Amino acid sequence: MMYGALEAGGTKMVCAIGDEYGHIFDRIRIPTGTPQDTMPLIIEYFSQYELESLGIACFGPIDLHKGSTTYGYILNTPKLAWRNYNILGTISEALGIPCGFDTDVNGSLLGEVTFGCARGLTDVIYLTIGTGIGGGVMTGGRLLHGMLHPELGHIIVNPRADDNYAGNCPYHGRCLEGMAAGPAIEKRWGQKAEMLTDNNTVWKLEAYYIAQALCTYIMTLSPQKIILGGGVMHQNQLIDMIREEVASMVGGYIDTREFRNIKTYICTASLNDDQGILGAIKLAIDCKL
Ligand code: ADP
Ligand code: ZN
Repeated sequence: MMYGALEAGGTKMVCAIGDEYGHIFDRIRIPTGTPQDTMPLIIEYFSQYELESLGIACFGPIDLHKGSTTYGYILNTPKLAWRNYNILGTISEALGIPCGFDTDVNGSLLGEVTFGCARGLTDVIYLTIGTGIGGGVMTGGRLLHGMLHPELGHIIVNPRADDNYAGNCPYHGRCLEGMAAGPAIEKRWGQKAEMLTDNNTVWKLEAYYIAQALCTYIMTLSPQKIILGGGVMHQNQLIDMIREEVASMVGGYIDTREFRNIKTYICTASLNDDQGILGAIKLAIDCKL
């Protein structure tokens, strides 16, 4: 069977063709312009194939409620051209095939649960730390949507006593995203995050904020595993610092088999940055069931 997969991001759209085994046969990247420029290219690409269905893992916020009049719309995104845009309806009408739809981070999570390091698990969190911070949640084997969908990047964190940075979230200032996403690192230290590899102080502070957030997720959602992705996690030294901080902040209170094995409990994404597109394939498969 051939399925289409669209990973819709604020900077690029990745379109791919794959099968139920997680093989990807072809893919293209299209820079994200306005819907008027970008959507025809996406539709033209998928029209070349005879597809069973298509999965869309989309930047948000988005409407995931099937009964809603704006189901499949992108909601109040800062990307103004995409605000209140019916991305799902536009594609499904043009292609005439069933389409699955979820957040980009739930897509990445689903990719890891289906084809990657979280196979067989039912309670998993995927957190991406990049231009923004966002997270997908699976609980009891289902992707969590709730009222809107989880916004794991916008939880409030305690500033470290020596950190005077004001935070750069336009809504909350010092939320996790405002303190620890790539642009926050760059503004606080005056250099792009990728140039700061050798500065241990930077990554100790980064680990401190990410670990606080992970402790909150562990205590509230009780995941069996937490997977960390996004550009900032390409700093290989960071993951161990995060594990150490989490263990220290949890303070011995959680003592499960999963948590004791902290190297597998908190891990980096396992699918070479294909987790989102592979999750979109699974969204395509599942929307036909
Ligand atoms: P996006 O979130 O836009 O989809 P990324 O996940 O690549 O894309 O995140 C981009 C952010 O990650 C930028 O702020 C960038 O500075 C940061 N980043 C990218 N690569 C690295 C790296 N190797 N080390 C640290 N930060 C990085
Ligand atoms: Zn925020």
